Amino acid sequence: MLEHIAVEPKQLNHYQSIVGDKVLDELRQLAEPLKWASILHINATAFGDGVAEILMSLVPLMRDLELDAEWQIIEGSDDFFNAIKSSHNGLQSMEIPLSEQMKAIWQEYNALNAKAFEGDYDFIVVHDPQPAGLLHYHGHSGGKHCIWRCHIDTSTPNMDFWNFYAPYFSAHDAAIFTMEQYVGPGLDFEELSIIPPTIDSPSTKNSEIPFPEAQKVVANFGIDLSQPLITQVSRYDPWKDPLGVIDAYRIANQFMPATQLALVGSMATDDPEGLYYLDKTSRHAGEDPDIYILHNYHGVNAYEVGCFQTVSEVVIQKSAREGFGLLVTEGLWKGKPVIGGNVGGIPLQVIDGKTGFLVDSVEQCAEKFLYLLINPDVGQAMGQAGREHVRGKFLITRHCVITCDFLLTFCRIAFGLI
Ligand code: UDP
Repeated sequence: MLEHIAVEPKQLNHYQSIVGDKVLDELRQLAEPLKWASILHINATAFGDGVAEILMSLVPLMRDLELDAEWQIIEGSDDFFNAIKSSHNGLQSMEIPLSEQMKAIWQEYNALNAKAFEGDYDFIVVHDPQPAGLLHYHGHSGGKHCIWRCHIDTSTPNMDFWNFYAPYFSAHDAAIFTMEQYVGPGLDFEELSIIPPTIDSPSTKNSEIPFPEAQKVVANFGIDLSQPLITQVSRYDPWKDPLGVIDAYRIANQFMPATQLALVGSMATDDPEGLYYLDKTSRHAGEDPDIYILHNYHGVNAYEVGCFQTVSEVVIQKSAREGFGLLVTEGLWKGKPVIGGNVGGIPLQVIDGKTGFLVDSVEQCAEKFLYLLINPDVGQAMGQAGREHVRGKFLITRHCVITCDFLLTFCRIAFGLI
């Protein structure tokens, strides 16, 4: 049996004050024909990345809509997670080799997990490449609809990786991508949907934390809140470019020496590169007492992440590659201007000059955060615009609406009704 992930119950009623009755009514109506449909989500980790974050909310909300939703994770060894991390990088275009050993480990663990798989579901949603071979090894059972949910940007993959993985992806009946342009070469699904990720506004991390309370929590990490604070929350990963953030901070710091930088990152269980890159980041920061490098082992968990976002003058997400960037959504939802790398899903959220700034270099990043520190009123207005942008497009209730709509269309096509 695969590991079942228990989730805290959630009630849609609690979202009424945030999104209003109209959205909730539309959602309940859409979900009505799907009542009691069983839907299983499978991914690789219960904690620390955007997928886990979404499932933690999507699964209980689907249950509140009376769908029979479940979440399970696959099992893997360090070797498996190392191989898959490289594969993520290769599928997102990195020029690295794919060895026969990496292929064999991925196949071995997908076969083992397929053997351990139990149950019968109307829909199975397989998230990302880690478990994408389950369907192949388990054998396709006619009654089930298997959907591959891709959260990464496979628009220009390294073809060695693509040629190996694409047949496994294509074996699914349907697919969901974050953006149209992420669909990899030659993939042709009968049913394909585009669903941008979303955040759960009343969650521990995203609900409003009283400012003095957030200040107290952040001050406990040694940060002096009488001086400006800039924060990037992210896994320690080359694509998130924490080293570039430090370089930008150093340039800006020459002009505003009291500014502090917090880099906060979780150690996701399926990310073997995390410790190595944390170490590299710490070495890059050197002995600078105004750079704070923190992670969940220091006790920076969901609530503390929310506190850091709440008290920061500016939120940074200087990614060099990004599927969507939930951390950008979270920063905007806290009413903060966000400086984001001009890549992936970030431009969907950071509207340049309106909800923050898009940057292509360390120098631009430094220039923009100096500008925002010098012009706090502009930053505040951008933050407010950002919060409204998120309210309209990137809250979990919207995710539920698009998901139900997709499942209904998919059923109609599968049963020949349209
Ligand atoms: N996250 C967290 N603690 C951390 C770092 C990240 O809780 O120290 C969460 C973060 O709040 C967000 C998710 O992990 O909800 C990261 O999602 P994103 O799409 O930004 O990046 P990913 O890690 O999936 O590439």
